[in-house]
Amino acid sequence: MDPLMTFLRQKNPELEPYITMIEQWNQLQEEEVDTLENDSIDVPDDELTVIADKRADLLPAKPVLIKKIKRLEGMVANERSFNEELLRALGACPDCGGDNEDCDTCSGEGVPGFYTPDYDLFLEYVIPAIRTFNMNYQ
Ligand SMILES: [Zn+2]
Repeated sequence: MDPLMTFLRQKNPELEPYITMIEQWNQLQEEEVDTLENDSIDVPDDELTVIADKRADLLPAKPVLIKKIKRLEGMVANERSFNEELLRALGACPDCGGDNEDCDTCSGEGVPGFYTPDYDLFLEYVIPAIRTFNMNYQ
């Protein structure tokens, strides 16, 4: 029995349900540390305790973080898809736009106009820009 919990029980009997919950939570954490100790990675005991403590601190935030990560992954996928469409509209390498000489697709050669622009994407993105460009610069 944890002496701190015993002391808290004696001084604040009304906290009994919470103290019991804390003890159960601590027991779960110790079981997880035991599981980690049985893995093949040799980690010192004090580091396992630190890991378990940090995990316990972060656990309440986990669902919120997972939701944010999924939202950000969705945003990145949308931006990546939009970038690829624009690069195809410009006849540029859809992987790097000609900015990466290590690119497997174009070796950095795929600047706008290097490839034949995608017809539909050109009509969708470039033609309206050319119209507006001509209205304002000629
Ligand atoms: Zn490329």
